[in-house]
Amino acid sequence: MSTSTIHVGVSACVLGDKVRFDGGHKRSNYVTDYLGAVFRFEPICPEVAMGMPVPRPAIRVQELGNEIHLVDSKDSALRHTDSLNRVFEQQRGKMAALDGYIFCAKSPTCGVERIKVYGESGELLHRKGRGLFAQQVMDAYPCLPVEEDGRLNDMGLRESFITKVYVHHRFRHDVLAKPSAAALVDFHSRHKFLVMAYNPKMYQAIGRLVSGAGKEHLDTLFSQYLTMLMQTLSKPTNRRKHTNVLMHLQGFFKKYLDPQEKQELAEQIDKYRLGYVPLLAPITLLQHHLRKYPNDYLSNQVYLAPYPEQLGLRA
Ligand code: SF4
Repeated sequence: MSTSTIHVGVSACVLGDKVRFDGGHKRSNYVTDYLGAVFRFEPICPEVAMGMPVPRPAIRVQELGNEIHLVDSKDSALRHTDSLNRVFEQQRGKMAALDGYIFCAKSPTCGVERIKVYGESGELLHRKGRGLFAQQVMDAYPCLPVEEDGRLNDMGLRESFITKVYVHHRFRHDVLAKPSAAALVDFHSRHKFLVMAYNPKMYQAIGRLVSGAGKEHLDTLFSQYLTMLMQTLSKPTNRRKHTNVLMHLQGFFKKYLDPQEKQELAEQIDKYRLGYVPLLAPITLLQHHLRKYPNDYLSNQVYLAPYPEQLGLRA
């Protein structure tokens, strides 16, 4: 795994900065204490960067004419959209070096989903909006892994997000930094079992795209590949799919293990399937066998260590 620094954008209030409209913060201990140990955060409060004070009047998303604006909640004539656009343009260059973004939920500026959108007369139109800064980031970098602070408390979403951040990082460094069809084929080969663990059918579909490498322009191919990969990893996986992958990996050692070792490995996989032990148990045993019976193809599989063990996601 590449060990270079992973830069992740974050809403400043999630790190504990007192920049919210009411002078408070939305510190997430998981983000600061756990993810802060492995990511280098690039915090920004877009509203403060626009020149707004702390505390400040509340703002909201409002549909005016056919346009979506960020306006003062009490006076929709006070529009902040142009200022926000300027802040985004100032930040845009830095964002190309990010491998993920953690946004603060429920904010008309940073929220990713379920944001209230008001109509011309101030009536609530719906709650399916997105914060305007989050929208700009996601439009400019559609494959950038993004998540809201609160959703990171869900173990499946947390693992999915962190997996995507590391995949995105490897893709930028191993494929985009030295672009070639061969680099993509190698990348895909190393991610085989990881993708299988999320969606075996998508592994086949993405494989077909890669096997056509050379027909498409590289930029188009990379963009299609990363889009499909990120979509695949966005839906949290489950015990059944992991068990399927573990059984595939078990097959690599058939010729080498003695009957007792075979039984021990099969039992660990079954205990994982039944929920008696965490994923780390069979993975640790597989890694032990891999050290004893080296296999380059397996050693290179990202599935065995998709993110740092210290995050405890498999324990
Ligand atoms: S949600 Fe975004 S705009 Fe609001 S305080 Fe946090 S960082 Fe600033």
